[in-house]
Amino acid sequence: MTIEPGEATGMRPAAGLGDPSRALWHPFTDMTSTSPPVEMVRGEGVWLWDAEGNRYLDGSSSLWFANVGHGRTEIADAIREQLSRLETFHIFGDFTNPPAEQLAGRLASLAPMADAKVFLTSGGGDSIEAAVKLARLFHAVRGEPSRQYVISRSGGYHGTHGIGTSILGMPFREGFGELVHATSRVEWDSAEALEGEITRLGSERVAAFVFEPVIGSGGVLVPPEGYLEQVIATCRRHGVLAIADAVICGFGRLGSWFGVERWGLEPDLIAFAKGVSSGYLPMGGVIASAAVAEPFFERPGQMFAHGATYSGHATCCAAALANLDILARDDLVHRAARIERDFHDRLSTLRSHALVDTVRGGIGLMAAVVLDGEALEERPSLARDFWLASRRRGLLTRSLGDGAAVAPPLIVDDADMETIVGCLGAALDDVDPG
Ligand code: PLP
Repeated sequence: MTIEPGEATGMRPAAGLGDPSRALWHPFTDMTSTSPPVEMVRGEGVWLWDAEGNRYLDGSSSLWFANVGHGRTEIADAIREQLSRLETFHIFGDFTNPPAEQLAGRLASLAPMADAKVFLTSGGGDSIEAAVKLARLFHAVRGEPSRQYVISRSGGYHGTHGIGTSILGMPFREGFGELVHATSRVEWDSAEALEGEITRLGSERVAAFVFEPVIGSGGVLVPPEGYLEQVIATCRRHGVLAIADAVICGFGRLGSWFGVERWGLEPDLIAFAKGVSSGYLPMGGVIASAAVAEPFFERPGQMFAHGATYSGHATCCAAALANLDILARDDLVHRAARIERDFHDRLSTLRSHALVDTVRGGIGLMAAVVLDGEALEERPSLARDFWLASRRRGLLTRSLGDGAAVAPPLIVDDADMETIVGCLGAALDDVDPG
């Protein structure tokens, strides 16, 4: 499989990433790089085209968000319709707007918690910020202000805002000075470690535990059997709020609305983003259980003094509603659960390649092709080389420390899956020194 030429636009910038002629500063990127950026100009379904006309299969749903695929005119129409009526008006105080009302109502009815309330944001990091502040405030207004500690997991990623950076289980915390106090991390796969940490800190000092049902950016780490049920029970026992970070796992990625249903979990708070709008416009939020919302909805004068200008942005909400319509109408939300075995089995055929150690995943449409440990040690650039080789072969993945993550749009079909496995196999051959 090679890159197929599409319609060339000739718009691709020739300058390297860090060229003085360019002003754009890329996130998480070494801006001294001299290689020119890949400029994406068009998308349709699982496919993307760059400015040179090269076609790629979007094997990572961009940054894990393009759940319904690219180029959906229904969503574009909903956006246009809302923009021409009223772009937005804020929802602070007693103002509201119809799309924000509808979106909150819809998400509350889909949530695994009864009588849930929905606080809207603009993305995943925003949602984590809101969820953790709300958890701390919840305890404070109920007379336990000492409950401030937030425990998260090694390998976890929760965005790059102040709190998200502070609770990160990955190495991107250095150099930013003092971060948010009263946070700690436990081993990602040990329920005993959580119990031990709560005991060590004293449960009267612990506000919340934050977890991704399946850890995404940290490497597609599926929890051991029974782990999630056990940590939720531990949280309940100690009065600690369980915050599910469903930013990647929600909206069909794991084959259910919020991912957590796969284990029958009812967290106290769910942070969501990405697939709620499939990236057509920025959107995110927090779903709170009735018990967490109670002090704020029953006690006059007690408010959540938090929120950003674009909370409940009418056009972003309209885009999310149109996206939810597609997920429900085409039953995309449950599709990953139906095809996860096939997806995983096909990727697992790559294990016969000498450079592949294993394939992580198995739940929903998210997996990691993990490279051989010795080969990685011998050649530290191997994972990145593999990712680049896949891209040259026309497949976009996410580079991980030990391999590549694959999480295609939920519309992926048989032929697409064959293409994904074919490109990965060819890319492995490309980087195989043997
Ligand atoms: N939480 C998880 C699990 C994520 O994967 C991400 C982003 O990848 C975030 C939070 C942060 O979301 P955002 O980049 O929209 O702030």
